[in-house]
Amino acid sequence: MAKLFIIATPIGNLEDLTLRGLRILGEVDGIIAEDTRVTQKLLEHYGIKKSLYTFHQHSLEKETEKIARLLEEGKNLALVTDAGTPGISDPGGKLIEDLLKTMPDLEIIPIPGPNAAITALSVAGFPADHFLFLGFPPHKKGRQTFFREMTEAEPTIVFYESTHRILKALEQMSALENLRERPIVVLRELTKKFETIYRGTAAEILAKLQQEGPRGEFVVVIGPVKILKQKAA
Ligand code: SAM
Repeated sequence: MAKLFIIATPIGNLEDLTLRGLRILGEVDGIIAEDTRVTQKLLEHYGIKKSLYTFHQHSLEKETEKIARLLEEGKNLALVTDAGTPGISDPGGKLIEDLLKTMPDLEIIPIPGPNAAITALSVAGFPADHFLFLGFPPHKKGRQTFFREMTEAEPTIVFYESTHRILKALEQMSALENLRERPIVVLRELTKKFETIYRGTAAEILAKLQQEGPRGEFVVVIGPVKILKQKAA
């Protein structure tokens, strides 16, 4: 039976690919990619030429079937997404879920590497022995509830936000009691040329980003409630 390797790829800096990931990308019979243009750039950087197969959040059954057929024919495949670890707030997990329905014995091998949330936590300076990862806030319906529920969460919280909604997210956070006073870290364009780390309250960071104009990709980390309690004591 063929193997499916789940390979974490860089979140910006193309050098952040593990040696094992690089070796396996060079050895497999084909690569399943979220956006073939993004993956092609990585492969060109490393001089790898491979057949690419696409998949995305709304992949049709027949695309998943095609991948299943290749695996059944004995082709070893790698799955990568546009950035970081497949399955973490991207369509990678759905493909694995669908493949396992028809191929429960499929050998799936994780090749660990970059992830934006973990990278953010590693420099945030908040306790991360226990944290809450919330992915992306909903765009419309449920968005207010998403932030309101954060006010009741005690541990360090991490979530992803897009360029278009980061100001709105900071505004919503700065309007909520039990959230507006918590220290936060906003990490922009991690590992890339314009990497910036903002530290302060939601209102303070909002003012900075309004001045600079928000550009790029963002991770938001919120300090745990116990930091506030320690300060108050
Ligand atoms: N699977 C990816 C991972 O392991 O981190 C996450 C994919 S999710 C579709 C993309 C989101 O992750 C972006 O909108 C942003 O919030 C965050 N992200 C990815 N790369 C980033 C970077 N270099 N700097 C800051 N945030 C990043």
